[in-house]
Amino acid sequence: MNQIIPVIDASLSLLAVLINFVFAILLIARTSRTIVYITFFFICISVMIWNLGDFMVYLTGNRVWFYISLIGSGMIPAFAFHFICTLVRPEQKSTLWIVPPYFFSSLLALSAPLAIFHSGIQQFVDSIYWNVCYYVLLVPFLLSCIIMLFNAMKKAKYEDEKSRLRYIFAATLIGIFAGLTDLVQVLKVSVPPFGHLGSVFYSSILAIGVFKHRTTYDILAQMRTKLEVLSEMAASIAHEIRNPLSSIKGAANLLSNELKNLNNPKSQEYAHLITEEIDRLNNILVNFQYFTKPLKIEKELISINEVIQKTVRLAESDTLNINIRLELSRDLPKIQADALPMKQVFLNLIKNAEEACGSEGELVIKTEYSAPRVKIIFADNGQGIPQELLPHIFEPFFTTKITGIGVGLAISQKIIQAHTGQIEVNNRVPTGTQFTIFLPV
Ligand code: ADP
Repeated sequence: MNQIIPVIDASLSLLAVLINFVFAILLIARTSRTIVYITFFFICISVMIWNLGDFMVYLTGNRVWFYISLIGSGMIPAFAFHFICTLVRPEQKSTLWIVPPYFFSSLLALSAPLAIFHSGIQQFVDSIYWNVCYYVLLVPFLLSCIIMLFNAMKKAKYEDEKSRLRYIFAATLIGIFAGLTDLVQVLKVSVPPFGHLGSVFYSSILAIGVFKHRTTYDILAQMRTKLEVLSEMAASIAHEIRNPLSSIKGAANLLSNELKNLNNPKSQEYAHLITEEIDRLNNILVNFQYFTKPLKIEKELISINEVIQKTVRLAESDTLNINIRLELSRDLPKIQADALPMKQVFLNLIKNAEEACGSEGELVIKTEYSAPRVKIIFADNGQGIPQELLPHIFEPFFTTKITGIGVGLAISQKIIQAHTGQIEVNNRVPTGTQFTIFLPV
C-alpha cells in the first residue's frame, strides 16, 4: 500500500501537468489578452511547474526538481490573488494592492532555484522556515480571496454572476485546503498530501468556470474599456459645461434684478426658475466630477461648524425651499478634513432634504462631540425612505426621483469613507429621514 500511494501521487501530478498544459494552450488560442485570462494563464503555468517538478523528483530522485517545483507553488498565491481581485473588484483602478503578494511570492519562488547554487539559501528552503514564511506571508492573501469571493457571491444580483463566482469559489477552496495538506507535511502531521489531487480538481473547475462563461468575461472586459473611455469623456464634458453655466447664472441674476425694477412678477418667476434649474444642473455636474475622477483628499485642520455654516449660507443664497435650523455644538473640536468635498456632502444632504419635504419642510443640522469622533446629524421632516429601499440608497445610480441621477449619496459616502468616517441613515418616527455622519478627530 505504502508503495502504491507515491505512484498514484506522481500520476496525479503528471495529470495536473497535462491538463494545465491543455488549458494554457486553450487560453492562448481561444481568449483575448485581458487581465482575467492572463492571470489565469499564469496560474496554469505555475501549477504546471509545481506538479512537473514533483513528478520529476519521483521519476529521477534529483532534488533539483524539488527546488524548481517550489517556483510554481511559490507563485500561485500572487497570481490567484490578482485573478480573484480582478474578478470581484473590477472598479479598482489602482494596481498597488497586488504589489505585496507579488513581492512575497517572488521572494519565496526565487529563493528555491537559488538554493541550487547557495548552501545557506538551501538550508533555509529545506528547513521548516520556508513553509512558515509561506503560511505567514502568502496564506493570508489566499484566505482573503475566499472572503472576497464569499462577499461577492452574497452581493451578486444575477444567477449568471453567482454561477460564475461559484466555480471560482469552489476551485479556490479546494486549492487552498489541498495545498495546505502539502505544506503541513514538513510538520510531520498525519495528513495525507492532497496537493496534486487538489490541483487536478481545482484547475479543472476553474477552467470549466472560465471557459463556460467566456462570453460574459469578454463582454465584461469590453465594457470595462468602453466605460473607462466614456467616463473620461463624460468628465471632460461636465468640466466644459460648468463654465458657460456660471455665465448663464450670472446673466440670469442680472436679469432678475432688472425685472425687479420693472415690477413684472411673472417674468421674475421665470428668471427665478432659470436660476433654480442652473443650481440643480451645477450640483449634478459637481457630483458627476467627483464620481468620475479619483477622489483626492487634502486634509487640514478645519472647523466642521464653519463648513456647515458656509454651506447653508451658500444654499440659502441660491434657491432653497426648506427652513434650516442649526444646532451646532460650541465645544466641537477641529478635525483633519478637506473642506471642499465635505461641503459637497452637506450640500447633497440639504438638497435631498429639500426635495423630500413639502413647503412646511424643516431640516435640523446638529453637531456634537462624541469622543473620539464628531457627529453631524441631518434630520428632516420629509416623506422618509421606505424600509425596503434603505439598503440601496448609497448605491450609484439608485434614485426614486423622475429627474434624479442617484449619485449624490454614493459620492457623499465615498467622500466620508475617504476621511475614514461613516455615514448612516435612519428613518425617523413618524416622518422624516436622519443622516448621521461620524468623522474621526
Ligand atoms: P438623487 O437625489 O439623484 O435621487 P441620491 O443618491 O442623492 O440621488 O439619493 C438616492 C435616493 O435616496 C433618492 O432618490 C431618494 O429616494 C432617497 N433619499 C435620499 N435622501 C432622502 C431624504 N432626505 N428623504 C427621503 N429620501 C431620500
